[in-house]
Amino acid sequence: MKRVGVLALQGDVAEHAGALARCGVAAVRVRRPADLAGLDALVLPGGESTTIGQLAVDYGLVQPLRDFVASGKPVWGTCAGLILLARDAGHAQPLVGGLDVRVDRNAFGRQVASFETDLDVAGLAGGPFRAVFIRAPAVVEAGPGVDVLARLDDGPIVAVRQGAILGTAFHAELGDDLRVHRLFLGMGEPNVDAP
Ligand code: GLN
Repeated sequence: MKRVGVLALQGDVAEHAGALARCGVAAVRVRRPADLAGLDALVLPGGESTTIGQLAVDYGLVQPLRDFVASGKPVWGTCAGLILLARDAGHAQPLVGGLDVRVDRNAFGRQVASFETDLDVAGLAGGPFRAVFIRAPAVVEAGPGVDVLARLDDGPIVAVRQGAILGTAFHAELGDDLRVHRLFLGMGEPNVDAP
């Protein structure tokens, strides 16, 4: 079985691990650089990107995470995880980078402005995805190598893919719908992306 890590410094680690378990994958919690060894894919969960980033600095994880992203293995950032993967978050804060996007943190307002909505996500069969946005970022600039997978009401970009890097501004791990997790797990399979 595929070995999938979840960065477990802060945030909704248990929810991602639970969703992965429902997909039949036992998640490996990543807290130290050595935990990345042997992983096939990695999830950066939602939470607070400044906290996760600072803990990654404290634990010596920033460069190992950059190396993992550069290795071309699938990496998925949700919400704060998307912010961490961005090349620019509009603030001076530790980032992993790798995804050629600029994000606007808290693009939709404060905690009270959190919401759920039905979202059409490219590559997901079976109708719209019920997406949960919690103090979510939006992608405000995407480089030429970045595919836009979803926009909110034809406006802000809220899901992207650049090669093996997936980024979603929403939380896909909070409901029963595992389609984004399955999409991510499929990114590591040979031939799935063959034209
Ligand atoms: N706004 C948070 C941040 O900047 C992200 C919120 C979330 O992950 N739910 O890190």
